[in-house]
Amino acid sequence: MQTGFTLAQLADPEVAEADKILRACVHCGFCTATCPTYVLLGDELDSPRGRIYLIKDMLENDRPASAKVVKHIDRCLSCLACMTTCPSGVHYMHLVDHARRHIEETFRRPLAERTLRALLAVVLPRPGLFRLALVGARFARPFARLLPGRLKAMAGLAPAAVPSPSAVDRPQVFAAEGRRRARVALLAGCAQQVLAPQINEATVRLLTRHGVEVVVARGAGCCGALTHHLGMERPALAAARANVAAWHAELDGDGLDAVIINASGCGTTVKDYGFMLRADPAWADKAARIAGLARDVTEFMAAIGLRPALAQSGLAVAYHSACSMQHGQRITAEPRALLAAAGFALREIPEGHLCCGSAGTYNLLQPALASALRERKVRNIESVGADLVATGNIGCMTQLAGATRLPVLHTVELLDWATGGPPPAALRGKGDIPNFS
Ligand code: SF4
Ligand code: SF4
Repeated sequence: MQTGFTLAQLADPEVAEADKILRACVHCGFCTATCPTYVLLGDELDSPRGRIYLIKDMLENDRPASAKVVKHIDRCLSCLACMTTCPSGVHYMHLVDHARRHIEETFRRPLAERTLRALLAVVLPRPGLFRLALVGARFARPFARLLPGRLKAMAGLAPAAVPSPSAVDRPQVFAAEGRRRARVALLAGCAQQVLAPQINEATVRLLTRHGVEVVVARGAGCCGALTHHLGMERPALAAARANVAAWHAELDGDGLDAVIINASGCGTTVKDYGFMLRADPAWADKAARIAGLARDVTEFMAAIGLRPALAQSGLAVAYHSACSMQHGQRITAEPRALLAAAGFALREIPEGHLCCGSAGTYNLLQPALASALRERKVRNIESVGADLVATGNIGCMTQLAGATRLPVLHTVELLDWATGGPPPAALRGKGDIPNFS
């Protein structure tokens, strides 16, 4: 694609990067077929190619974002299916991230919208505040039907009970069982540890059982993805710097073989820290080093090898590959191979490339589109005759759990159970479940 940036514009490294991405696009339109919003709405402006044109026009003319641009960029899930499909290697993620920042800096949203986005940015990354908000939302659940659109979506997504905080998420070191094979830092995260503390607990058990020392580093917290996708650069970069500092201190201390992430949405962001902090001389090298150490827990387990399963469960698992896993990190084979090795019978979900509608805060900000995608995903999941659903991202778990009769679990809960951990909470009380112990 030809671009028309002036030399003065190209002197800005951000614009130069956008120019490089735009030039790679040959407007073939292959990406439209796999874009969930184009599939639902059939509007070119809600396709990757249409959005690329809108962004090009906005940046080339150095214009503040218009209401039209905001509408179509806001509808983008950042699912990155377009990047998997694109034959020209267009880095849509960095381009849309740039556009979201530009929107945040140049467009004044209506007051209610600004307030909601500011609240999400403050509450979700802070486990204490988020827990309080969920307790409040519990009381709104019975009245959810009466609430207007977005509030209804939020009340509907709040869990019926808010779990207690887990001791696992405090800064500490978990010793490896037997001979130490590796030492890793675990991203304890933010929203996930509140919604499903059993995921980090299962991750620590699984890793230590396999001879891995696990450190939850002091000072590490939210990865920054939530604010990054809202276009709020300052808090996103502050979160990235805090994590880089915390993990770098471990790297310089007892050393680290990997930074383990068990929420693929966070993994995509941590792996991008080198790019996010590239313009900051004090942080660029450290961030790139940390990004290079980042591994999804299934990626890491596949590399070190899973112990033989204690028994064959015979349970059929519909594996839902989160967009951030399959498109953001291109991890597709490892979770499936691990689940199969752990004795589960895998069922492939039709239209597996399409997003479930979770996409960070998307299901709260775009409830109608998110719910249409969720219904479609649940229909596809329930068509394969599985006993349960496994996935590697808390956003997808929350999005799907309220809409399907099947238990929805994190992949590590199943791997932990099959190699000696307790049965996952979501399966307890569901009739006959195998006893692996
Ligand atoms: S598939 Fe790639 S090159 Fe083709 S229109 Fe989409 S982004 Fe551009
Ligand atoms: S990120 Fe997803 S929703 Fe956005 S343009 Fe690409 S395929 Fe479409």
